[in-house]
Amino acid sequence: MTNLTNEEIWRAVLSEMEMALSKASFVTWFKNTKIISKENGQVVISVPNGFVKEWVQNKFNKQIFQCLKQVDDQIREINYVVGNPFIKAPDSKILAREIPLEQIQETVSDGDLDPKTNLNKKYTLDNFVVGSNNELAHAAGLAVVKDIGRVYNPLFVYGGVGLGKTHLLQGIANKILKESPDKKILYIPTEKMVSELIEGIKNKTIEDIKMRYAQKDVLIVDDVQFLAAKESTQDIFFATFNNLYNRNKQIILSSDRPPRALSAIEERLKSRFEGGMIADIGIPNYETRLAILKMKMKSKPISLPDEILQYIATNIQKNIRELEGALNRIIAVIDLTGREPNLKDAEKLLKAYVQASYRKTSAQTIIKTVCDFYGISLNELLKKSRKTFLVKPRQIAMYLLREDTKASFPDIGSRLGGKDHSTVIHAYRKIIEEVDNNEGMKQEINLIRERIYNKV
Ligand code: ADP
Ligand code: MG
Repeated sequence: MTNLTNEEIWRAVLSEMEMALSKASFVTWFKNTKIISKENGQVVISVPNGFVKEWVQNKFNKQIFQCLKQVDDQIREINYVVGNPFIKAPDSKILAREIPLEQIQETVSDGDLDPKTNLNKKYTLDNFVVGSNNELAHAAGLAVVKDIGRVYNPLFVYGGVGLGKTHLLQGIANKILKESPDKKILYIPTEKMVSELIEGIKNKTIEDIKMRYAQKDVLIVDDVQFLAAKESTQDIFFATFNNLYNRNKQIILSSDRPPRALSAIEERLKSRFEGGMIADIGIPNYETRLAILKMKMKSKPISLPDEILQYIATNIQKNIRELEGALNRIIAVIDLTGREPNLKDAEKLLKAYVQASYRKTSAQTIIKTVCDFYGISLNELLKKSRKTFLVKPRQIAMYLLREDTKASFPDIGSRLGGKDHSTVIHAYRKIIEEVDNNEGMKQEINLIRERIYNKV
């Protein structure tokens, strides 16, 4: 059971959806939505028009239902109605101070995106907190700013999801621009680069695209683990890399793992990636987490007592995006209700938040994520082949299916191309043992889980 009001419950769902969606689609589908009643396990949600109703019902109902259930396990059914979102619900104490969603969004907005560079002004080095987890990467970044293209080329930053890679890379770029406004910089997420290149090949505009990259003084490619295996895009990227490198233009890359562990990437690219400076970003310690929360508070509309920040920093440890998400959730509710912030409320909100982020997963998601992670096809995973590069992903898939879905050994065997249950047991035990004895394996499994649960 829960003591949260309908508005608080809906806020909880909204922050969850916000994390799962892009900002644009979050605003499109969830602006002006609200819970108008909750009785006997039935929740009525008001949406602004029929179009939104249909979309939300078809696309998000399941997720909304799961979030609602995390907060209030009595909930059985959701109905969507088209209505005026600002009708006063009878049990609402809060609506007198109705705050439009956009205003709450302000606190978590994407900031200004410059279409020419793809840089977001909100990511600076001034608001990047330096701790023992990221000081090497940060220092390397500063060195690059001072001497572009000459000291560390490429600069390769790697680390898990939500630990600040994008922030650092963009912060470096923004600082370069501030100090030398004439520098031509392009920041591009790998997925975007890959789709640009594929389009370019199709439309015969590839030479223009290559030229556009080659004109840059600084090219930043984020999340290179998403470079797909055996694609002609790797050829083009390789050529672009060499072209820039040979002319002392700066290349900055990020990835979720070190170059060696990028199994889908060709050897020649990997050794290029290793040719400059490699710096990792790890999990921040308590002091750094607290400092980050304090930094984030500077741009918030209200202030929170230290004990609440300490509580958040103690309880959310592995992902700074989540740390910030928890902070935003608490601020949104406090701002909305106009209540004095107190530790008890914060604890309650955070509990719902933490529970909601242990999302359930499916066998299908696990299998697909493992294939993507190792750059192999589903067919390869299911084959009988005993090649090491296939055996390992297969065993890890078996392990994750057992650990995270509690599927039976025979079930797992049949899902993975009709393997005997004893094979599955053997694989499961083997990975358990490796996770215990081998830090690398532990990290690999963590990375895969991050992808499964963060939908990255
Ligand atoms: P990644 O690219 O590694 O997945 P991001 O750069 O997107 O992670 O960081 C996630 C969130 O955490 C961002 O909002 C970012 O501003 C914040 N963040 C990460 N590291 C720091 C830091 N050292 N100081 C301040 N904010 C940080
Ligand atoms: Mg990133």
